[in-house]
Amino acid sequence: MKSPQLLLLLLLSSTYSTAFPVDTGSNGGDMQLVEKYLENFYSPEGEEVPRSKSRSFNSVTEKLKKMQKFFGLEVTGKVDAETLDVMKQPRCGVPDLGGFTLTEGNPKWDKTNLTYRIEKYTRKLGGSEVRRAIEKALKVWSDVSPLTFKEETEGITDIMISFNRGDHGDNSPFDGPSGILAHAFQPGRLIGGDAHFDDDENWGDQGPRGTNLFIVAAHEFGHSLGLSHSSEAGALMYPTYAYIEPSLFKLPQDDINGIQTIYGKSQNPQQPTGPVTPKACSSRTTFDAVTTLRGEIMFFKDRFFWRKSPHLPDIELNAISLNWPSLSSGVDAAYESYENDQVLLFKGNRYWALNAYDIVRGYPKRITHLGFPKYIKQIDAAFSVPETGKTYFFIGSKYWRYDEYSQSMEKGYPRYVAQDFTGVGPKIDAALRHDGYTYFFHGTKQIQFDLNSKRIVRDDQRSNSWLNC
Ligand SMILES: [Zn+2]
Ligand SMILES: [Zn+2]
Repeated sequence: MKSPQLLLLLLLSSTYSTAFPVDTGSNGGDMQLVEKYLENFYSPEGEEVPRSKSRSFNSVTEKLKKMQKFFGLEVTGKVDAETLDVMKQPRCGVPDLGGFTLTEGNPKWDKTNLTYRIEKYTRKLGGSEVRRAIEKALKVWSDVSPLTFKEETEGITDIMISFNRGDHGDNSPFDGPSGILAHAFQPGRLIGGDAHFDDDENWGDQGPRGTNLFIVAAHEFGHSLGLSHSSEAGALMYPTYAYIEPSLFKLPQDDINGIQTIYGKSQNPQQPTGPVTPKACSSRTTFDAVTTLRGEIMFFKDRFFWRKSPHLPDIELNAISLNWPSLSSGVDAAYESYENDQVLLFKGNRYWALNAYDIVRGYPKRITHLGFPKYIKQIDAAFSVPETGKTYFFIGSKYWRYDEYSQSMEKGYPRYVAQDFTGVGPKIDAALRHDGYTYFFHGTKQIQFDLNSKRIVRDDQRSNSWLNC
């Protein structure tokens, strides 16, 4: 009979090593981080990880390229700032092998009525909070598949759940706060299906503070059921952690497709559906908001934004929650204020100011702060003209004008859009100021407008013509 140690090694999908270095600020620290990251998440099963300094340079480059491809970064095989940024994000401890939806070898449970037990609790949350988060996380999967989960309070169950710190006996030590948050094992006997959470994280069950247990647990149980990491931004099975308000959480379609490929459809007479990651070049692509940001252009759509940058070879799709958890459900309007070197994002009757990608302290603020009356509940579109310091806000069939120099709403507004922007509107989804022209987006259609002559320059292009389509 094999020793438990050997079995553990066979069940592990990769060789794990020591924790991330604490010092990632210096170059040496960064290089150590890169090596550890690639070793942890991009070393194929069974591959011997050389410990000597003579490790082939090529293997590092190849792994780096794989990692960059998985995350949709520019594939250079070199450590650039963007690659380093992704590596520093808190994430799941399971490797990103292959980028398949299913775990290699298609491991699955051969029954649908699974049992689970919370074996060891955390000190960061009360017992009933932990039980509630775990139950809700399992329900994410049982809602869309034939699977059911029953809690046991003693004995061995299919999915054993525990909070552990550092080395906890499965050859996959945790790494202290941040870095690796949790890991889980593919379906199988003994440790198979089990989910471990790093008890050095600041676990929370509400709000964006700390690490949300429900979100991380729902992801880990995807592994417990046989799913691997998805390379689709926005999927629950994407490897990096992104906070979503739990009450707004809906399992994305990509994850539903994954679990149903393994276990079949839900028994619910009405098949559940989930949010779909938008496709840049679909004939139905529309935008919620568009803005420039220091030479880049950001196109917001639902929970995502496309980033068009002169420094990127391709258009990049990001989940909003990765950068701004409090705006994860989407943005109504956005513009760049050249005066303050800030980007303003609007959602409902509040707005957030960004300095580069960081939310400025003191935000969000209410839009009444800009001079809007209380009855205005939402802004459709906005753009600002750097030469005049005038910002235009579009709300339904009317628009308002704001002076960036005096920081006040101008008198005589609102006015009708149809009056001053002939042929535009009445309702606008998004607006952009770029290269001296104003672009209005309405559905899949875009209008290029000259503010000086008050004339339409072009109206035969699609909204997504910006996205290299
Ligand atoms: Zn994972
Ligand atoms: Zn573990």
